[in-house]
Amino acid sequence: MAYPLGRNNNNRPYQHVLRLIPQHDPVMALRLNRQLMAVYSYILVWGGTMLAMQLGIFSYDTPHKPLFASLLVFNAIVFALIRSGASKIFSDPSLTIAQMLSAITLVTALLHYAEEMRGAMISIYFMVMTFGVFALDRTKMIVMSAVVIVAFTGLIVYEFIYSPKLMVFSLAVGQWMILLLGLIWFVFVGGYIHNLQQRIREQRESLRDNHSRLEESHTQLHAAMEKLAEIAVRDSLTGLYNRRHFIERLEEAIAIANRSREPFYLALIDLDHFKQVNDLHGHQVGDEILVRFSTLARQTLRRSDVLARYGGEEFIVLFPDGGREGITEVLERLRESFAAMSHDDLVPGLKVTLSAGLAGWRPEDNSDSLTRRADDRLYAAKHQGRNRLQAS
Ligand code: GH3
Ligand code: MG
Ligand code: MG
Repeated sequence: MAYPLGRNNNNRPYQHVLRLIPQHDPVMALRLNRQLMAVYSYILVWGGTMLAMQLGIFSYDTPHKPLFASLLVFNAIVFALIRSGASKIFSDPSLTIAQMLSAITLVTALLHYAEEMRGAMISIYFMVMTFGVFALDRTKMIVMSAVVIVAFTGLIVYEFIYSPKLMVFSLAVGQWMILLLGLIWFVFVGGYIHNLQQRIREQRESLRDNHSRLEESHTQLHAAMEKLAEIAVRDSLTGLYNRRHFIERLEEAIAIANRSREPFYLALIDLDHFKQVNDLHGHQVGDEILVRFSTLARQTLRRSDVLARYGGEEFIVLFPDGGREGITEVLERLRESFAAMSHDDLVPGLKVTLSAGLAGWRPEDNSDSLTRRADDRLYAAKHQGRNRLQAS
């Protein structure tokens, strides 16, 4: 992408502003957004903790400042690792497990100070587990559940050793059991959701694959159709337009002339004594001469002139613009160069000439009458001894 730092309203790239969430990397953006969500949750829990302390629900000596401050610092480091791309070297670039471990540590420490709120606070462990559902598979979820259970068991054991008088043992066991049940539920349902999410991701990928394959075959089809369309209007031996296409172009030119009243010209060209060329030297030599004439005519005429093979050794040219003099000159040049062309490589001493008839459009003309007039001129050119141009 050209502007990795995004664009402003004028659609110019931001050069100096470093965005917190990048726009060019949607996967990274997702990871960072997920982490910001965790940070917001921490701030919320922090607020809740301070409120609970004010209300006397939490122990007054809860070390909330060092706890949350170190957590926020930890999260800032995680954010920097993800944002800089450095976390990509890990198998889980979201650093989910590290984030969950830090959260579990926090929750366990808070529980120590939660006093009678402990029962309700246990559910915060489940909030932490929810983050795992999106990124961890079932095995990792089991490991994280084990970490939670070990942490909570450790807390109970710690309190049992250091302040056994404050402990209500049956309550602790009850909480422990509920936590275990909740975690088992998380492993199963979380695993199910995780698999579902995985399957959706795979389906989306295969859909994307299919789409690009479809696009590819569409491009191929389009190219094939263009080639076919091109073949449909071309003569296979010479590559010139064929008669059908030429007549379409001629009808178009007549329609335009009827509106604009601007004359245009039509020339019929026929190679002289061509039957003899075939009879004396063979059909292949004849074919080669037809190709040579086509190449020469293409080079001599203008790009805007429409040149077609009208049939056999007859060619037809539509001159959409240009005056009679200029066109006559071009045709004369073509006639002369063709007559001068050497075919010694085919048959020593072989020379072939052409005759041409030129007719200009008249307001009463249709395609037949105009072609007929050009053909009349061609006939006249033949009659007068060939190798010449006759204009009406
Ligand atoms: P002229 O036009 O000068 O009166 O004599 P011509 O011998 O050219 O006249 P005609 O129209 O009778 O003969 C045309 C010949 O062109 C017939 C055929 O042998 C040859 N011809 C037509 N199409 C092809 C082709 O595709 N390849 C080859 N080699 N010859 C062709
Ligand atoms: Mg002919
Ligand atoms: Mg001929």
